[in-house]
Amino acid sequence: MEKRDDGEYELAFENVSFRYPGSAQYVLKNVSCRLDMKRKMAVVGRNGAGKTTFIKLLCGLYEPTEGRITLNGVDIRKYKPEEYRDLFGVVFQDFRLFSFPVWENVTAGYERDDGRLWKALRQAGAKELVKQMPEGPETLLYKDTGEGVEISGGEAQKLGIARALYKDAALIILDEPTAALDPLAEAEVYARFDEMTEGKTSIYISHRMSSCRFCDDIMVFDDGRIAERGSHESLLAAKGLYSQLWNAQAKYYA
Ligand code: ADP
Repeated sequence: MEKRDDGEYELAFENVSFRYPGSAQYVLKNVSCRLDMKRKMAVVGRNGAGKTTFIKLLCGLYEPTEGRITLNGVDIRKYKPEEYRDLFGVVFQDFRLFSFPVWENVTAGYERDDGRLWKALRQAGAKELVKQMPEGPETLLYKDTGEGVEISGGEAQKLGIARALYKDAALIILDEPTAALDPLAEAEVYARFDEMTEGKTSIYISHRMSSCRFCDDIMVFDDGRIAERGSHESLLAAKGLYSQLWNAQAKYYA
């Protein structure tokens, strides 16, 4: 696979349909789209619309049942899986940390480089957290295998983000944590997202409408299809599904 320092990759879905193995029901239906690099994208839609599944296919964790996904015009099945996956730094909602030292949780099998480690921790907003741990990055997490430290959901999220950033991948994907963070920690994640993703392509899977405003290219999923796509302003003006969902949620937050 061609490694590019300029991050200029072209990813596209071509008529992709998908059923989970053993299931008769299509979760994605004839999805076609191109992902423009160096942009802040968001994927929104109701629960179960297919957002997370779309991302899992994009990352190569599942293969399309029909259609294909291409990178620079070539079917992603033709690339070596480990090389293809190196393109993505992802934090899914159900990410896991392990009862290992902090540094191992962040480097996750890649070679340790302390400069890179602290940079990732700083960008993820976890530098102070790790600095004040008893043994800094050598500190064991959790108490399952020894005398480790317990951390909150928000702190775990930051370390999960640091792990994604440590890879220094071209695309950063963040599945919005809906439960783990309190509103303040959540606001901090949005504020940092800009800094974290500078010069990279980012995709934010948004489970709340209020949180995709800061993205410049929003894809609205509905029942396994991309129903609409555009900027926040253009989608509101179109008065379609996005504006319906936006107005419905705005009522709760007004
Ligand atoms: P969203 O992220 O928009 O909430 P998902 O992509 O998680 O939606 O889910 C889309 C549909 O796929 C849902 O109907 C969900 O129940 C189904 N689904 C998700 N994961 C699996 C799985 N591992 N096996 C079978 N069905 C699944």
